[in-house]
Amino acid sequence: MNPVARVEVLASQSGGSLEDQQADVGQGNRVFRVDRQRIERAVREILIAIGEDPDREGLRETPARVARMYDELFGGLHEDPRVHLRKFFTEKCDEVILVRDITFNSMCEHHMMPFMGKAHVAYLPRERVVGLSKLARVVEAVARRPQVQERMTEQIADILEQELGARGVAVVIEAVHTCMTIRGVRKPDSLCVTSAMRGYFRNRSSTRAELMTLIYGNRR
Ligand SMILES: [Zn+2]
Repeated sequence: MNPVARVEVLASQSGGSLEDQQADVGQGNRVFRVDRQRIERAVREILIAIGEDPDREGLRETPARVARMYDELFGGLHEDPRVHLRKFFTEKCDEVILVRDITFNSMCEHHMMPFMGKAHVAYLPRERVVGLSKLARVVEAVARRPQVQERMTEQIADILEQELGARGVAVVIEAVHTCMTIRGVRKPDSLCVTSAMRGYFRNRSSTRAELMTLIYGNRR
């Protein structure tokens, strides 16, 4: 780690689409849940549309099962990921804090098919430090909604930067998209990698290089 110089954190105070999303839902957890009955009706319609009999034994419970599953998979939509960062402690720390290999599942909003993978989340604190598990909680809340990987990466970085006032934030996500592996171009081994760098990680190549060694060092 380099000696700490006075470099301003790039402030992207645009707020982002996440806040717009949250505005409708209010603050805190679980203001309302998904409309399960509506999902059940819709899934029944899909079964009929593909030429199935939704009343045959194997499918009878399927609409209800899918509704419960969507409630779980989209639960993050009704949760404010920022609440996980509100409990911080003040610590003089000049080193990179990285949580690597945070597994997640999300849902591609273009195809309503899952994408899953790992997130690596790092920050260089100014003075606010949070429990390590909180970074995983943020990833989880942002993942559990209709998503695209690029936006998810940016959202996590923006939330960390805004809530922690960190000198730098870095988010790298590697994911397999089932909409690419089992349909469409069908490339089962393709891995999509996205990154969002803020502050020191964006401005200083040495800090970024240190991060990449921490993430990938023993894997290359
Ligand atoms: Zn897709």
